[in-house]
Amino acid sequence: MNYIYHYDLAAILICIIVGGLFYSKKHFPSKSNRLFLTIGALIITASVFDVISVFTLTHIDTVPIWFNYLVNCTFFLAFNCTYIVYFIYILLITERNKEPYGKVVKIVNSVVLLYINFVILTTPWLKLVFYFEGNEYKHGPLHVSLYVVAFIMLGGCIFTILTSKRKINNMHLITTCVIAVISIVAILVQFVWNELLLVDFVAALLFFMLFHSLQNPDEYLDKELDIFNMKAFLQKIVNLSGKKRGFTVLAFEIEGFQFVDQFMGVESGNDLLAVVVKDCLKELKGDLYHLDGTKFAYIFDKNSKEIEEYADWLKWRFVTAFRVNRVAVNLSLRLCKVDFPEVASTREEMLNAITSSLEQAKEENSYDVIEATKEAIEKHQRSAIISHILKGAVRNKSFDVYFQPIYSFEDRAFSAAEALVRLQDPELGFIPPDEFIPIAEQNGLILEVGDIVFHKVCEFLQSSEVTNLGIRYVEVNLSMVQCIQEDLHKHLKAIMDRYEIPYHMIDFEVTETFSTSDNRILMNNMSNLIDSGCTFAVDDYGTGFSNADYLIEFPFDLVKIDKSVVWSATDNEKAMKVLEHTAAMIRSLGLKIVAEGVETFEQVLMLRSMRCEFLQGYYFSKPLPPDQYIEFLRNAEVCIKEKLTDRLAMLS
Ligand code: C2E
Ligand code: CA
Ligand code: CA
Repeated sequence: MNYIYHYDLAAILICIIVGGLFYSKKHFPSKSNRLFLTIGALIITASVFDVISVFTLTHIDTVPIWFNYLVNCTFFLAFNCTYIVYFIYILLITERNKEPYGKVVKIVNSVVLLYINFVILTTPWLKLVFYFEGNEYKHGPLHVSLYVVAFIMLGGCIFTILTSKRKINNMHLITTCVIAVISIVAILVQFVWNELLLVDFVAALLFFMLFHSLQNPDEYLDKELDIFNMKAFLQKIVNLSGKKRGFTVLAFEIEGFQFVDQFMGVESGNDLLAVVVKDCLKELKGDLYHLDGTKFAYIFDKNSKEIEEYADWLKWRFVTAFRVNRVAVNLSLRLCKVDFPEVASTREEMLNAITSSLEQAKEENSYDVIEATKEAIEKHQRSAIISHILKGAVRNKSFDVYFQPIYSFEDRAFSAAEALVRLQDPELGFIPPDEFIPIAEQNGLILEVGDIVFHKVCEFLQSSEVTNLGIRYVEVNLSMVQCIQEDLHKHLKAIMDRYEIPYHMIDFEVTETFSTSDNRILMNNMSNLIDSGCTFAVDDYGTGFSNADYLIEFPFDLVKIDKSVVWSATDNEKAMKVLEHTAAMIRSLGLKIVAEGVETFEQVLMLRSMRCEFLQGYYFSKPLPPDQYIEFLRNAEVCIKEKLTDRLAMLS
């Protein structure tokens, strides 16, 4: 037979070129890369031995028979293994190797591998695949089965690809399928025209296709920084996830690029990033991964001492400026570390943990390494959800305002109330303001939340009969973020004017802040509103956020003693003494006292003896929706009689 071996020579050349291209670039050491290179090596082996077999078969009379067996058996082994390895490769890239499906397929592959090894390696003796009769090469009874095995493997590949559509993108799906289909056609052609020796050439072309679309090292590379990218990081996590000991990821985000981008151009920003990365790599033995933007990650062995050492080195390095185009730029660094699998057990969880821990570092303004914990991540995720809910609630103005009655000893009536915001979500249910107000303060929505609340309070005061029911004023909480808006006083007065609410009907509650520049604006807002007739109360007094200086410095009318202070004075003699002195001190400054969190009659007695003017708490009523609050006021006399006058009378 006249074999055409030139295709095989071309196949060898193609595989060598692809291998050369692959190794010429920084390549990511992954399992899929290893399998890919194995496929290339098998194609080269099959082609080389195919070419040799052309020579040995045409010179059967001069070449020793054992050598002919060796050459042809090696060819068949390499040929069949190519498709088995391709199948394993497909299982890996479709991520179906860990599923029960993958396990079954692996068993089938092992059986097939055993079969072809047995059939081929015993051929010199059992003559199952081929044999020599005189000087003639003949097919054995199981020769066809080797082709059938290749078809089964390729059919398995196609089935796996088509049933894993979500795990693999369209481009990769088409490429891998086309490779399998063309291989089937090529094997059929070679089966019919034995002398063509086409199959390895086609395999080599397909190997090139695979390189171009799936295994191009560039896919895993950040070319500008010449380090691995996010895709490589995620792949590395998957590769390492089988390891028993686990590992720790140290991630960091570099801050301060806005300045360079803004004043020196984005080009300089990129140059600077390259300078920084080069520096960061100096102290690193392994690979640094560029996640996105200015976020990077490095993978350490679990509990490795190097983590702390490297983090310390990074912190130290970022104290000094970096230089770009002869300009010194100061950058800062947020760091976090995440344990796998204790804190994050999948690549998605790992990314999530890194993102939320770095955000946590920013929120806490921490330059230390934030150690990711499941709780912190969950908390952060809940915050993100609440932030999203808040946006919707602001858009739909779907906050409610409840009113908690405040009893005045002087008026012998519930002549005031505190307005408290309420947020209800269909999925999370009631979200306490203690939880969502700080989030709204962080994302800036507090200004709109405050507006909605104030509108609702004014609307309520305008439309209801509360003034007839003895209400003299309503206390409205102001966040410090609101208080430091220069024109807050104008804004609030405009709203009160719109609803024609007399200014003296509003008392604003504020909690102390520490920044003096903010205090100037707060003072300006307070003075303007007070001049118009509003009053101010200092909230949460006694919690450590409010101190006496604050009372001296600012024109407050009222002091709200925090509920925690009331509660500790109830159980603790010393705390009671402190409260007694605090109350006396406040009164001596000419301010009135509202005691919060009054839950028992004993507390009423205690606070009365300290001459607190106002009481607020569950003992009288929880915060109520507007209609129930009106109802409460209508029955107030009964409540006062039952809860106060009758019980006080019994005592005397
Ligand atoms: P706060 O200003 O100290 O409000 C008093 C809180 O104590 C309210 O909680 C009230 O329901 C609760 N409380 C009153 N009496 C008792 C009692 O006897 N026992 C117990 N256990 N609790 C009592 P709420 O409504 O959950 O509000 C929590 C915090 O959220 C408020 O603390 C305030 O800082 C903030 N907040 C509420 N509404 C607004 C608002 O409209 N704007 C702003 N900026 N903050 C608000
Ligand atoms: Ca308050
Ligand atoms: Ca309070």
